[in-house]
Amino acid sequence: MLDISNYEVWFITGSQHLYGIETLNKVQIHSKKITSSLNDHSSIPVQVVFKTVLTTPDEIIQICRQANNSIHCIGIIAWMHTFSPAKMWINGLKILRKPLLHLHTQFGSDIPWDKIDMDFMNLHQSAHGGREFGYINTRLRKDRKVIVGHWKDKEVIKSIAVWTRVAAAWEDCQHLKIARFGDNMREVAVTEGDKVSAQVQFGYSVNGYGLGDLVERIDASTENEVKAIVESYFDEYIVSPEMHKNGPRFADLQTAARIENGLRVFLKEGGFHAFTDTFENLHGMDQLPGIAVQRLMAEGYGFGAEGDWKTAALVRTMKVMATGLKGGNSFMEDYTYHFDPGAMSVLGAHMLEICPSIASHKPLCQIHPLGIGGKSDPVRLVFNSAGGPALNASLIDLGNRFRLLVNPVDALDPEHDLPNLPVARVLWKPHPNLKIGAAAWILAGGAHHTCYSQNLDVEYLEDFAEMAGIEYTLIDADTKMHFFKQQLRWNEIYYHLASGIS
Ligand code: MN
Repeated sequence: MLDISNYEVWFITGSQHLYGIETLNKVQIHSKKITSSLNDHSSIPVQVVFKTVLTTPDEIIQICRQANNSIHCIGIIAWMHTFSPAKMWINGLKILRKPLLHLHTQFGSDIPWDKIDMDFMNLHQSAHGGREFGYINTRLRKDRKVIVGHWKDKEVIKSIAVWTRVAAAWEDCQHLKIARFGDNMREVAVTEGDKVSAQVQFGYSVNGYGLGDLVERIDASTENEVKAIVESYFDEYIVSPEMHKNGPRFADLQTAARIENGLRVFLKEGGFHAFTDTFENLHGMDQLPGIAVQRLMAEGYGFGAEGDWKTAALVRTMKVMATGLKGGNSFMEDYTYHFDPGAMSVLGAHMLEICPSIASHKPLCQIHPLGIGGKSDPVRLVFNSAGGPALNASLIDLGNRFRLLVNPVDALDPEHDLPNLPVARVLWKPHPNLKIGAAAWILAGGAHHTCYSQNLDVEYLEDFAEMAGIEYTLIDADTKMHFFKQQLRWNEIYYHLASGIS
C-alpha cells in the first residue's frame, strides 16, 4: 500500500543581516512556530521540516544543494518574513531541482491598529519581501506555486496540502518503472507516444517485457498462493455461485488467482509500480487479466489497457497524490453516451479494468465471455460507482510536447440496474455540459483513456503540470468554446517558441 509519510518538505525563510541578531532570532522563532503549526495539520501528509533562516548567498546555495541531494526532501516551502534581497537567491534557485512553493504569508494575521510602530513594520515585511522574491523567480522563469494568505487560513492549509501530495507524486515519478506486456493495441494512435521524451519530462521509465517471463511467474504460483488469493476473493466480493468451490467454473477463478499472483510477483521482483497489457498479446495466458488488474490498481499500481503507458503512469501518479484520501482513482474510458436532451451523460467503463477503489458497494465477482482477444472467459469485478464531484484527466503526446487535459464531472448515482452489463461502470455529466465538454476534449486531442478521480480536484492536476513543466488545459464550468479554441492556438505558439531548439 502507498505511504508518503516519510517524505519531507523543507521550510526555509529568507532574510538578511541588516536587521541584527534580535530581529533574526524573532524571525527564526516565528518560522519554527509556522512549521510546527503546519505539522499539526493532519491534512498535510508529509513532514514539514524547519531548516533555517537564510541571510547570505552561500547559505542559500548550500540549502538548495542539500535539498537536491536529499532522498527524503520532495520540495521547498520558502517564506520571506522580512525583506531578503533576491540577487542573493539567484545562484541557489538556478540549481534547485526540487519543487518550490512560495508561501506568501505574514506572521501576524491582523494589523494591531493601536500599537503598530516601525518595529512591527520591520518584522512584518512579507508584503514587499515576497514581491522581491517573486520577481527573481519570474526573472529566472522558475515554475513554482504561490499561495497567499495567513498560515492558519483553511484555504492556505488546503493548498499547501495539495502541493505536498503532488510533490510526493512527482518524487515517485522520478523513480517510477513501468512494465509493458505487449505493445500498443495495433494501429491505435492516442495511446502511442515518445517514451524517451516522457522520461526526460517526467522521470519515469517505460520498458517492454516478454510475455513468457510473466507466464513463467504465473505458472510457478504455488497451490497455497492461489488458495490465499481465492480466499480473499470470497472475503472481499460477492462471488457468483458458478465459481464457488463445487461450481462448474471454480477452476476459472483459480486461474484468475494464478494470473494475479504471477503479475504481482513479476511487478514486485522488478520494482514496477505501473504496467500495461493488451488483449492482442496474451500468448501463454488463459485469460485477459481482469480481476488481477483491478486488485493491483486498488493496491496502488498504475495501469493502462491496450499498451497505454501514459495513462498507466498518470493513474499511478494520481494514486500517490491521493494516498489516504477517501474515494478512489481508476483507469477509465469514455465508453457510451446517453443523448437524452434532458440528461446528457457519459457511461464510463472498460472491458474489465476499472479499479474497485471507486466502487460504491461490495463488488460482484463474475465470469463472462469477452468478445475480443480469443481467450477463455475472464473473471472480473462488477460494481457501480457513487455520485458526486469527480474529474477525468488525460495525458497526450502532441509530438512537440505533452498536454495534460482535465475535465471536472458530476458523477450520477445509478438510476438503473443494468443487469446485462458485465463490467464496472460510472455515469457522469462533464462540465460545463456534454456538448461543450466533449467538443473541447476532442479539439484538445484528449484520449478515450483517462484517470478518473473521486478525490482530487483540479488544483492537484494544475500543480502537477507545473512541476512537470507541461501544458495544462482545463475544461470546466467557465469554458467558452470560442476562448478555448483561441487558448489552444496560443499555446501552440507559446510551446513552439518556449521549447527553443530542444
Ligand atoms: Mn480501452
